[in-house]
Amino acid sequence: MPPFPDFSNPTIFPTFASLPLATDDVPPNSTPYHLIGTISENMTLSTSPTFICKDPSGAPFALTLRIPAALVKAGVQGGGYDVSGFKKGFTFVVPNARRSGVSEGKQGFVEIPVGEVKVIPASVKKLMEMSAREREGIEKRGRSQGKESCQACGNEKEAEKLSRCKGCESVWYCDKNCQTVGWTEKGHKGECKIYRAVLSAFPGADGTA
Ligand SMILES: [Zn+2]
Ligand SMILES: [Zn+2]
Repeated sequence: MPPFPDFSNPTIFPTFASLPLATDDVPPNSTPYHLIGTISENMTLSTSPTFICKDPSGAPFALTLRIPAALVKAGVQGGGYDVSGFKKGFTFVVPNARRSGVSEGKQGFVEIPVGEVKVIPASVKKLMEMSAREREGIEKRGRSQGKESCQACGNEKEAEKLSRCKGCESVWYCDKNCQTVGWTEKGHKGECKIYRAVLSAFPGADGTA
């Protein structure tokens, strides 16, 4: 299982303002990074779907999706592209984003082919909370010789004595009873799909795709 990315790491998840410009040269072997932004508003005016998002520092930026020419319906807002999956409060993940349209007094925007963008059904704030918890878990495992702890009751045991959530394979349980408590009372019902989306968006280690 790849580690949960550290969404609070500004090198891997930079702010919009710190992104390189589209006109900058790309240094060879530069570290891959991702722009993440919570979708706050759909402000599509042309045939390109455009969203206002909030970056990890809470600063707003505009993201424009380029859709394949063959799919664009001319004269239709957003080109007729189905953007129903890009919901308010969800997070866009944009690999190696660059700023376009930057000039004096203009902060620019990010433009990306729609196929390169991924969406996680949680806000950036929620993802940061989850990665802080994951970091704590890693430290705890270091202190307890690799034991995992039950998401419901917190008991630490060797992994083989626990069972894993089959949905996300990211949390552990003592038994069926703990699994039920974890799912309902301890909130895994809301987080299982977030873990799944994060792990499919970041199949490599620590945010490198
Ligand atoms: Zn338990
Ligand atoms: Zn799960």
